[in-house]
Amino acid sequence: MAESVTPPYLWFNGRIVPWASATLHATDTIWAGISTVFEGIRAYWNPRTETMHIFRLAEHLRRLEQSIRLIRMAMPHEVMTLLEDLPMLIARNGIREDTYIRVVAFPSERRMASRADEEVINLLADTAPLPSHLHEDRARHLMISSFIRISDSIMSPLIKSTANYRNSEMGVREAQHAGYDGPIFLNRLGEVAEGAWSTFFMLRNGTLITPDLQSDVLESVTRDTMLRLADEELSLRVVERRIGRTELYLADEAFLCGTAAEVQPIGTIDRLTLGSGEIGPITRRLRSAYAQAVRGESAARPEWRVPIPQRRTS
Ligand code: PMP
Repeated sequence: MAESVTPPYLWFNGRIVPWASATLHATDTIWAGISTVFEGIRAYWNPRTETMHIFRLAEHLRRLEQSIRLIRMAMPHEVMTLLEDLPMLIARNGIREDTYIRVVAFPSERRMASRADEEVINLLADTAPLPSHLHEDRARHLMISSFIRISDSIMSPLIKSTANYRNSEMGVREAQHAGYDGPIFLNRLGEVAEGAWSTFFMLRNGTLITPDLQSDVLESVTRDTMLRLADEELSLRVVERRIGRTELYLADEAFLCGTAAEVQPIGTIDRLTLGSGEIGPITRRLRSAYAQAVRGESAARPEWRVPIPQRRTS
């Protein structure tokens, strides 16, 4: 039987509480989904140094505040207290493995008011094991989705809301049904936007290119990490600009990236092979720089890693 992954504690409305005590009434969930905004954050265990870090926690919490503001939800006071409370939660749960942290903000039905400033918002954070795939030697086979990416004038892609995920999921189901690993979404202008739950990057003639922030993409934390590592660690030329559909097929290398997705090399798009069809050499170097940064194996950017306090054994 599969081992239960339920951690002993989670964080609910400002307090670390036993997992079983963080409950809502069933009716509270009925409309919560349309207003839910959230963050997915990773913490990595380093077996060599026996230390654990949360990666770019402050940036994720700032984006959560941004999502809350942009959907005009009442701002819970405790968002930034998670800077200290999430490391404590991981320590309290005794976690020593790669972990995914969800932080979710949603109004509950009973307390839902017609005026946003009267709403009382629930804020929940929980943890679950999520092994890293950064060592895998597999290039993905993607297709251009027939679904276009939601646009800024419909449901802003800059807001990380669960409702936006319906768009990604439609493309994922379509692509998998057609025998691909996943989709690439074009935006309303027919230009490249994103992968499912991930940012798109390509390499042409040694330049790293990603769609600009007007291309209907999420302001991804991993996108920022990659742009900085490419510039600072690999001295690559990096460009943020619009990318046309056909230019995709001309890429020497390409990959998707995101907090949960990490770095996913792309071998083919619409069955057209990119480069060798295997993981490209620059993608490999970038992925390795990323793997070292998240696990604290390189000196790069110590401010990106929030250490988990060691548990006292006595
Ligand atoms: N785009 C979308 C639509 C996403 O949902 C995600 C995952 N959060 C990303 C990009 C990657 O963002 P991040 O690097 O901040 O996880």
